[in-house]
Amino acid sequence: MRIDILTLFPDLIHSVIKESIIGRAIESGKVEINVINFREYSTNKHKKVDDYIFGGGAGMLISVQPIYDCLQAINKSVNTKVLLTSPRGVTFNQEKAENLAHEEHLIIICGHYEGIDERVSEYLVDEEISIGDYVLTGGELAALIIVDAVSRLVPDVLNKADSHINDSFSTKLLEYPQYTRPAEYMGMKVPDVLMSGNHKEIETYRLKESIRITYKRRPDLLSKYQLNKQESKLFKEIITEEQKTVEKE
Ligand code: SAH
Repeated sequence: MRIDILTLFPDLIHSVIKESIIGRAIESGKVEINVINFREYSTNKHKKVDDYIFGGGAGMLISVQPIYDCLQAINKSVNTKVLLTSPRGVTFNQEKAENLAHEEHLIIICGHYEGIDERVSEYLVDEEISIGDYVLTGGELAALIIVDAVSRLVPDVLNKADSHINDSFSTKLLEYPQYTRPAEYMGMKVPDVLMSGNHKEIETYRLKESIRITYKRRPDLLSKYQLNKQESKLFKEIITEEQKTVEKE
């Protein structure tokens, strides 16, 4: 997969993508990331990229020209998808990350200041993506979140050991709690079942705790999830157990 990121702050992107799993994915050629400073495409003699807003209003807006020329200069195919980071976009989630991971070429545009001339979104972009209902100073952190979530789903980026199939959201339930050594630390103990070596029991425990944590923290996700027979039985147990805990308190 190839990802081109258009930004005024390339160092911000470089400093993150060189590290850890994404850094290794780039090194091994599974993901190619090009960071392009679109200021270089400004035709203004001072390389200015922003201007006052027509009709008035506070702040400066990035002009369409440098973005247009920068996009023109990028090698594209019919499958290239151009994304704009924007608080007005559709909210990014795991399903969106999974869809984007199937694309062969993404271009992500990072805005700054007051944002970007509307013609970029109107004529040059396939999709606007927001990472949540808050406003950032620039699109770089949003682009990095998209790149991170998408890259780890590209085949072979994660090794089998850190496989993502059990991750929260991939199964539409939140992930069950996990522990590592030591089995007891400062009086804090790991649940006995995990030390039992009984794989069937461990599997049931994990499924049950996955349902429990989703029920407690994200009932909205659970209400969309189709519980099968075994899961419904576990869910009934959870409700009884949770009621008992509330009664005790
Ligand atoms: N005036 C704009 C905000 C501009 S913030 C508005 O009210 O909609 C500057 C840039 O930061 C945006 O162009 C976008 O690239 C990025 N940005 C800010 N918040 C974001 C969010 N929640 N998701 C994705 N990108 C965001």
